[in-house]
Amino acid sequence: MRQVRVLVWGEFVQERTEEAVARVYPRGIHEAIAEHLRKQPDMVVRTATLDEPEHGLSESVLKDTDVLIWWGHVAHDKVSDHVVERVCRRVLEGMGLIVLHSAHYSKPFRRLMGTSCSLKWREAGERERIWVVAPWHPIAEGLPEHFELEHEEMYGEYFDIPPPDELVFISWFEGGEVFRSGCCFYRGRGRIFYFRPGHETYPTYYNPYVRKVIENAVRWAAAPRGPEPRYGMVEPLEKLGKR
Ligand code: ZN
Repeated sequence: MRQVRVLVWGEFVQERTEEAVARVYPRGIHEAIAEHLRKQPDMVVRTATLDEPEHGLSESVLKDTDVLIWWGHVAHDKVSDHVVERVCRRVLEGMGLIVLHSAHYSKPFRRLMGTSCSLKWREAGERERIWVVAPWHPIAEGLPEHFELEHEEMYGEYFDIPPPDELVFISWFEGGEVFRSGCCFYRGRGRIFYFRPGHETYPTYYNPYVRKVIENAVRWAAAPRGPEPRYGMVEPLEKLGKR
């Protein structure tokens, strides 16, 4: 069986400084996400955090990564531009990238999108109903028509991203807003998936549907890329006539 090499990157700041977050994610959000993926026989899972040298994202670590998962919130600006450059380059070369919740403002995502990635938000513990709008998509595999999270932060449109290449989920919130909450993008040889839920004070990353989405997204983002493209001047494949 082909093994997907997954790296779960967590900022890991609020889990160590805020009681309300530590209560829900005592070992960090990245560990809660990794816990489920480690049970998958086709995945090899590692984690990395902001405080590690090079944020745990050295050239050799990224070279050995098929899919990088990114959660960040309060320290986007602490991520070195040099490392961001490296992550974006690897995505264009073919690494998968899964961007979660408040990482819509992370440097790699904004850079790869080329837009502000701004949105509306409200923290009121609202119910979120997530609708599958691409039931044929591999990321929707095994999910019901819709599922609900009892308490989440609200994110509302307009979400300033380029039109997604594939839209898999739309969220509805108790307060009335809607949001494109599962967006696929193809950039270079890389595949990018943005998934909305996951505010740090709610147990969202223990929810079986949310876990299933992330698991499916890893497999989608790691799909084979086919032959390496060649660029530049080439010799003709057939003998050309006189001209
Ligand atoms: Zn949040």
